[in-house]
Amino acid sequence: RDRVVPAYASGLDGPLTDEELAALQTRFADRGFTAVKIKGGLDVEADLRRLHLVSDVFHDRTGAAPALMLDANESWSRKEAVRHIGRLEESVDLAWVEEPVRRWDVDGLTRVSQSVRAAVATGENLTGLEQFRPLLQANAVDVVQTGSVWGISHFLRVAALALAFDLPVSPVGYNANPIAHAATVVPNHLSLEVQDLHLPFGIESDQEIEDGHLVLGDLPGLGLVVDEAAIEHMNQAADWGRHGGPHVRPERAGRRLVRKPPLHPRPQGPAPR
Ligand SMILES: [Mg+2]
Repeated sequence: RDRVVPAYASGLDGPLTDEELAALQTRFADRGFTAVKIKGGLDVEADLRRLHLVSDVFHDRTGAAPALMLDANESWSRKEAVRHIGRLEESVDLAWVEEPVRRWDVDGLTRVSQSVRAAVATGENLTGLEQFRPLLQANAVDVVQTGSVWGISHFLRVAALALAFDLPVSPVGYNANPIAHAATVVPNHLSLEVQDLHLPFGIESDQEIEDGHLVLGDLPGLGLVVDEAAIEHMNQAADWGRHGGPHVRPERAGRRLVRKPPLHPRPQGPAPR
């Protein structure tokens, strides 16, 4: 009913240097995005530095600080999450923190949500309503997320369940997001993750990114055209089938000691904007 889909910038940016992160987020800022999510969770000082860096990039390019989100990918124990987020919130206004503890930890997610100012976002790794229900019943989640790989029906079901709990829903996506059309027909859609400003190799679409939104085109179906011949011709194996990654969580997720803030905080730099 509406071809304009609210979206936020994201880059799976964990491996990027500060310079690369700034360059990436400059491109997102120049395309009109006003909200951005980065990866973090293992080093509180690095997270602080990178969040301020991204905020400064957006401020310089757009004149306003963005809404900031941090994806911890289940890095923390419950208390580590509260401690780490608390440290960040001394100088950063976080819109949400994503997967602060393990995906199934109802008590832990509830504890984190009640202990920090940021919203708790989670759900990309849950695959059925029976997995979402206990979290929603316990007020363990503030932003309900769905993994796009679980499909359109899954997204619509989870969106309806979230709506019944007065919660927003946000699809975690890959570029050429297949949930974008479905997102336009649910009343509680919050924002769609855009992980790349370019389409994947072998995929064409008439979707556009304009002013920080995804604008759907007129092609039928999902509006995606797959060039199978080009992909076959490329004949290049990715490493997604490799045991242990890159898409698999570390075995030690949630069971690692993360860097503590310094005992004597360094002098504050310029006031965060
Ligand atoms: Mg995530």
